[in-house]
Amino acid sequence: MEKFEVTIIGAGIVGLAVAARLAPKLKENLLLVERHESFGQETSSRNSEVIHAGIYYPENSLKARLCVSGNRRIYQLCQKYDIAHRRLGKLIVASSSAEETSLIELLKRGRRNGAANLKLLSAAESRALEPQVKTRAALFSPDSGIVDSHALMRLFYHQAKDSGAVIAFHTEIAEIKPLDSFFQLNCAGQDQTSFSFNTKTVINCAGLDAARLSRSAGLTTPAIHYAKGTYFSYSGISPLSHLVYPAPPQSGHGLGIHATIDLGGRLRFGPDLQYCVQPDYQVDATRRLQFAAAIKRYLPTLDSRRLAPDMAGIRPRLQGPDDPFSDFIIRQEGTAATVFFNLLGIESPGLTAAPAIADEIATRLNL
Ligand SMILES: Cc1cc2nc3c(=O)[nH]c(=O)nc-3n(C[C@H](O)[C@H](O)[C@H](O)COP(=O)(O)OP(=O)(O)OC[C@H]3O[C@@H](n4cnc5c(N)ncnc54)[C@H](O)[C@@H]3O)c2cc1C
Repeated sequence: MEKFEVTIIGAGIVGLAVAARLAPKLKENLLLVERHESFGQETSSRNSEVIHAGIYYPENSLKARLCVSGNRRIYQLCQKYDIAHRRLGKLIVASSSAEETSLIELLKRGRRNGAANLKLLSAAESRALEPQVKTRAALFSPDSGIVDSHALMRLFYHQAKDSGAVIAFHTEIAEIKPLDSFFQLNCAGQDQTSFSFNTKTVINCAGLDAARLSRSAGLTTPAIHYAKGTYFSYSGISPLSHLVYPAPPQSGHGLGIHATIDLGGRLRFGPDLQYCVQPDYQVDATRRLQFAAAIKRYLPTLDSRRLAPDMAGIRPRLQGPDDPFSDFIIRQEGTAATVFFNLLGIESPGLTAAPAIADEIATRLNL
């Protein structure tokens, strides 16, 4: 039976970033397994591609710390490896006096988290940046931007591969059996084949499937909720040149239906947040009216006929519909002879945080 020192499960942005970080030391003793035919086929290719600044999350949370350092690391990587990105800047806008107050709270929180260069803008200053956006005040984050997430994943993939890591696509981990001095991973390959291999360390970066795998290894695991986020695209020339977000909803669920611009200049709105029983990527076109109403609060000139159903992504979320904020879980479990790194609830800002998550794991493993 084949043996590996370290096995990473899942080739999304997080598993790839971890593989790229560990491969120079572990070389062919590192295995990255992925159930699809290629990397980045699930949540990592169904998001807004926004490089977040780290404004929203409670001080000292993993989300805050890893987002702030991930933001800097992503811009450095983009510059060093010539990855398409734009530091567009983001406006969080207020439609009521209560929301104005919440912007001040966000400013303080963002500064405590280390998000750089945040500034409160008056309505007139905001209008100078975005003439069509209606707001009483805005929080401006110049270091929020967008990145070609596929190019970033491709970079990590090649870095891992060029350092000698073994990468196996079409390999689904069905079950993890903890044994005395290693884990036995039972897999399903192509054409219904099944096989097993052993590993001393598991790094569980399986996104939507991470909780199931954690449970199969016999670990106490919190419930993961699937929270769908739908997008509508805007046909025509974008009336906006920055990322524009409403003040976040009081419920603590999502960031509100916001406007993002991709690297081709295309404007998209979303994601919203709907809990679902199973991952389901269908876009419900009837949500257009709800989207239009939410967007018109800050963009009253929106021509809602230009909104077209786009795509949906699914967040693996620890926070259930009635729960308060929940952080990423990145925890080391296992026995004296084995290590099981569990990454659970890696929802937004997981793309931004990925390089910092990889650093965190390398540090904890002394690699
Ligand atoms: C709608 C939406 C918008 C978002 N917007 C942003 C944003 O703008 N900025 C930001 O920073 N973050 C954003 N995020 C969050 C970000 O997309 C995720 O945090 C990130 O992509 C998670 O990456 P991952 O590698 O953990 O998971 P995934 O991309 O889901 O990767 C997990 C991989 O594991 C594989 N896998 C699963 N189970 C198995 C198994 N049993 N065997 C083998 N392989 C398996 C899967 O096929 C998959 O490739 C958004 C998320 C959503 C849903």
